[in-house]
Amino acid sequence: MTQTGTEVQRTADIRRANLAAVLRHVDLHPGSSQTDLRAALGLATGGVSALVSQLQTLDVLAGDRAAHGGAGRPRRVLRIHAPGRVAVGVEVTVDAVLVRVLAMDGTEIARRDTPLGPVPSSPAELGRLVGERMAAAVPAASTPLTLTVVVPGVVSGDQFTLPAFGWHYRPIAETLATAPDVPVVRLLNDGDTAALGELRRGVLRGCQTAVAIHGSNGIAGGIVSGGDILTGCLGLAGEIGHVIVAPEGPPCECGQRGCLAQVASVRAMARDLDETALLLTQGYWDYAASLAARAEGGEAAVRAVLDEARRTLGTVLQTLGAIVSPERIVLTGNLVPLGKHLLPDPPRPLAAGGLWERPVLLSGFGGDSVLIGAAEDARQAYFDDVVRLSARGA
Ligand SMILES: [Zn+2]
Repeated sequence: MTQTGTEVQRTADIRRANLAAVLRHVDLHPGSSQTDLRAALGLATGGVSALVSQLQTLDVLAGDRAAHGGAGRPRRVLRIHAPGRVAVGVEVTVDAVLVRVLAMDGTEIARRDTPLGPVPSSPAELGRLVGERMAAAVPAASTPLTLTVVVPGVVSGDQFTLPAFGWHYRPIAETLATAPDVPVVRLLNDGDTAALGELRRGVLRGCQTAVAIHGSNGIAGGIVSGGDILTGCLGLAGEIGHVIVAPEGPPCECGQRGCLAQVASVRAMARDLDETALLLTQGYWDYAASLAARAEGGEAAVRAVLDEARRTLGTVLQTLGAIVSPERIVLTGNLVPLGKHLLPDPPRPLAAGGLWERPVLLSGFGGDSVLIGAAEDARQAYFDDVVRLSARGA
């Protein structure tokens, strides 16, 4: 009996998903053997052997003979090994372009941070800018197969909005058309990517349900649900910065009034202190760090602004507890240097012993959660389409 076209496609999809699952498992559990894979993935012995064999033929997996303490043959432990192929993450912020180049086993092989310079004049110009910065960062002997670009705005379907650049509802394709000639290029928003970085490599690792609140030029966020990023029907899930906390408050570029980002973001703090020019001179991270130092030095106006932000953020954290019931909440980006002023010190559950008790943590990545998430997303994109992409990188 011959397979129909649909059945052939379905078989290919299952194979592709199984190859990605093998790579993801080996990535998360270095030193796994084929026996471990069978147990973890629920596949038959022959199935796992065939998948591993195909990945070895593609030069993506290597098997090393491990020392064996007991009786029996030494087992082979697997590791990701894709020589010369790299995944690239790029984070574009309002003042910088950060590039991180990873080998497919997750080893960082290059990192390059440069000032943004003049704001790109168009989405197409942004694509060209990313290409220039990427080309300067990627070593000559490496072949980039996947690229994930993250912007400080809203990405919804095939459009994106970057208020900081004055762009509203622009087609993603305008940027991708001039982006580097890499087989897979994706554009993501910063909040979801911060959550992904923490989920894969940071304090949310192993969580099924969690929240990241990300300080950028506003406040972004991402929700982890079922061990993956929850996007919602328009890609807007987790836009915590646009939860309304003061219905009569300052107008927000999203069209509402009194969003969290208008009260508790670093930009809102600078506005309230009449220091917007200083913020733009120092940059968001340095300005946030200086606010923390000034509060510790006893500057009353700064303390008052941070107290207001802490109270407001606390209300939103409580709300998130009730809606999402997360295992953990993490603050990322430029909220990190302000962390000790935005959370109870020492950090403690919001309502100790209550139903809403959840740990609120600070990222251990400094301001790098988004960049780490971008590069991890690019590596995942390689795993998800490893046969086609390995042919390109050979
Ligand atoms: Zn808003």
